[in-house]
Amino acid sequence: MAQLNLTRKLEILSDAAKYDASCASSGGERRSSRSGRGVGAVTGRSGVCHAYTPDGRCISLLKILLTNFCVYDCAYCVNRISSNTPRARFSVDEVVALTLDFYKRNYVEGLFLSSGVIQSADYTQEQLNCVAKTLRDQHDFRGYIHLKLIAGASPELAQTAGLYADRLSVNIELPKDESLVRLAPEKTPASIRQSMGRVRFGIETAKDFSHRKTPAPKFAGAGQSTQMIVGADDASDADIIGRADSLYAAYGLKRVYYSAFSPIPDTSSVLPSTRPHLMREHRLYQADWLMRQYGFGQAEILDGQDGGMLDLELDPKLAWALRHRGQFPVDVNTADKERLLRIPGLGVRSVKRVLALRRTHRITLEDLRSLTGSIKTLKAFVVCADWRPTSLSDEAGLEAKFRTAPRRGPVQLSLF
Ligand code: SF4
Repeated sequence: MAQLNLTRKLEILSDAAKYDASCASSGGERRSSRSGRGVGAVTGRSGVCHAYTPDGRCISLLKILLTNFCVYDCAYCVNRISSNTPRARFSVDEVVALTLDFYKRNYVEGLFLSSGVIQSADYTQEQLNCVAKTLRDQHDFRGYIHLKLIAGASPELAQTAGLYADRLSVNIELPKDESLVRLAPEKTPASIRQSMGRVRFGIETAKDFSHRKTPAPKFAGAGQSTQMIVGADDASDADIIGRADSLYAAYGLKRVYYSAFSPIPDTSSVLPSTRPHLMREHRLYQADWLMRQYGFGQAEILDGQDGGMLDLELDPKLAWALRHRGQFPVDVNTADKERLLRIPGLGVRSVKRVLALRRTHRITLEDLRSLTGSIKTLKAFVVCADWRPTSLSDEAGLEAKFRTAPRRGPVQLSLF
């Protein structure tokens, strides 16, 4: 094979990494430096957003694969062994040099590093760990590092990865175990869960010891995340949300990322030939947000939804409110926090502001307008000092007013 220059490798291996959505960086803490002058301090926030995936998601890190050679044959992946895609491989030193170079030029604040499986899960993990270890130990790099944990890598390698990375992710890939077995024959649901369990154990052990005289070293301080591909199999939104809910509970994940399946070049015939509507991915993110931030149970989000699929024309919180008109309007001057969080158009931050403001005076519609920017939606669901909605009986009309045909293009993520 002809020798590739670094630029060409970067082209191939950053392009190959774009299908992995599990790389938002949040919740990381600044690392302390041995010298006090380390490279890549993240000054209290972890990650930037300098790049966009083709479908509009913002990514914040130098996001690359160590290699897109892979001995596995996952049908949904452009890097599978049977794919006819251009291949490249970085050396450990090349990734280290690129990261430092990009960081010093202020292009990025960290690294997201994944890889195809070369030789074995253990060998691949060793290489990934080696990049992180070299950056931290030899270059005193304090920037954010998100490492992929290869399912099936040994407990020792998972432990090492957690000591050097801010975040680890093991991709669950598909919402249903039977789909994984069918579409990713070399992977097993059990080994993925085992790897996730190891990360959880490492994180909790580090936390348990953090208050002792000799605390355990930090372990994946920004937690673990995973990615689920949406639309590559027949899983419904109920299947996807149900799986996400159980993963949050079982492994204490920080985030589940949803990635709409893209028909890849040289696609396998066992996969759909078109991608799912992008609004589906967006609605799943909103439903996920409702579970994590708003106290909704998965059954509440999905009750009354056709075939276990979220309504593409209504955001799930608004859809829930329309299905439960009897619980509205809510008086913003007297309702508790949980009730306020159920009002469409009021987000977590707005609810905090409402609670603070009503200590000083009775909240008016104008207050709500200045707190939220728009009262178009919430007007139908609230009572305040100078407002009470009148059209509660016209449910069909109200719902029609809010329904909008979903756009096909990239979707701006709005969280209530
Ligand atoms: S293990 Fe599967 S998903 Fe990962 S790079 Fe290889 S073929 Fe792709």
